[in-house]
Amino acid sequence: MNQPLSWLECISCGEKYFKDARIYNCAQCGDLLDVKHDLETLKETVTLELFDKRLGGYEPWERSGVWRYKELVGPSFRHDELVTRGEGNTMLYPSPNWLAQYTGHANLELKHEGENPTGSFKDRGMTTGITQAKHLGAHAVICASTGNTSASMASYARLTGLQGVVAFPAGKVALGKIAQAIAYGATCLEICGDFDEAQHIVLEASQKLPVYLLNSVNPYRLEGQKTIMFEMLQQRRWRIPEWVVVPGGNLGNSSSFGKALMELHTLGLISRLPRIAIVQAEGANPFFRSWENGFKDFETVQAETLATAIRIGNPTNFSKAKRTIEWTNGISVCVTDQDILDAKACIDAAGIGCEPASAASVAGVKQMVENGIIKPHDEVVAVLTGHLLKDPGVVIDYHANELDTIAPNFINEIHRIDADFDALAAWVSQPEVQ
Ligand SMILES: *Cc1c(COP(=O)(O)O)cnc(C)c1O
Ligand SMILES: [Zn+2]
Repeated sequence: MNQPLSWLECISCGEKYFKDARIYNCAQCGDLLDVKHDLETLKETVTLELFDKRLGGYEPWERSGVWRYKELVGPSFRHDELVTRGEGNTMLYPSPNWLAQYTGHANLELKHEGENPTGSFKDRGMTTGITQAKHLGAHAVICASTGNTSASMASYARLTGLQGVVAFPAGKVALGKIAQAIAYGATCLEICGDFDEAQHIVLEASQKLPVYLLNSVNPYRLEGQKTIMFEMLQQRRWRIPEWVVVPGGNLGNSSSFGKALMELHTLGLISRLPRIAIVQAEGANPFFRSWENGFKDFETVQAETLATAIRIGNPTNFSKAKRTIEWTNGISVCVTDQDILDAKACIDAAGIGCEPASAASVAGVKQMVENGIIKPHDEVVAVLTGHLLKDPGVVIDYHANELDTIAPNFINEIHRIDADFDALAAWVSQPEVQ
């Protein structure tokens, strides 16, 4: 029998499974699974020119920033079964002066994944995850979520007529994200517990009920998220930066980056790998702690941070993220909530904007510049993971100085004035007279 084009493979013991097996962990050893593709066969068809040519395509899948790279994402899917919203195609911004001043580094680009259809990078993983769910004939999908996964899953589930069941930690999800999950018609369950507990019970549900699990333990999610690296490199005309800096919560994204880069390298499409820096919030930093002691041990934490998207104490993809660090000679970085919200205020005031967790990457860049880890000539790409409007509450509270533990160092207050022209005129700046 010929080798199939794709299969599931345990990252630890190497056990192989049929690509459509409905499993999320290795039946032999319990570790995580990769979706593997036959790169030897794909080598014959995959070229950088092929991806460039599709930028001018008309088919929805060619125009998607995920399916443009179909051969490396889901080579076995038929074009007519792809569930797509044209995700990806997000901006790679050059660092504005204002932000260069803040980070101390001018050679910084921002890959803004908040510009996806539902406002976070989760759409890149959901287009592949839901396509696989549909391929398997699932009628319901489920996830535990700090917010963005549920917003994304709710949308993509509806697009193809599946029931979406979302479980989030009560009171710990930003307003914009809950609003999306409700609006897109998901079955919304508020769990009286934290994200880690919610994740635990949906995993049990996926084993005992006929419902397909779409947390990032599902390796099909990560196949889509790899395209953040593909698209970023394509936008840079395949010039490799020195550093890619990304926030880490459940560590799916950082895991997918390592796999993406390794595959491009194996195919001979890139000559070296950028180094990956995974940034965690101080109150939710189990990966950072483990990295600090050389991965000798790993302890979960009780997570607490204002960056709710990365408020995770027991990250599912720990072992894959560790692999990313090893493959790319990467590092982990830890920043405080104060760092995160100041970085966010600067990204926002640069006219770009993002949600708190996203700003961890830029706070990480600032720290790496200060420590001399990032050298002045290094080209750096920071990934912004979610949109500004995901968490309007934290914006209002920061600029009104209403966050107990945070000093708003980049405050922009609202000025209340009389309904009077002179009162208004005082606030309009005049060009300087020479
Ligand atoms: C999901 C999410 C993260 C964390 O990504 P992981 O893959 O879980 O590490 C960070 N930022 C935002 C905005 C997210 O939605
Ligand atoms: Zn195994």
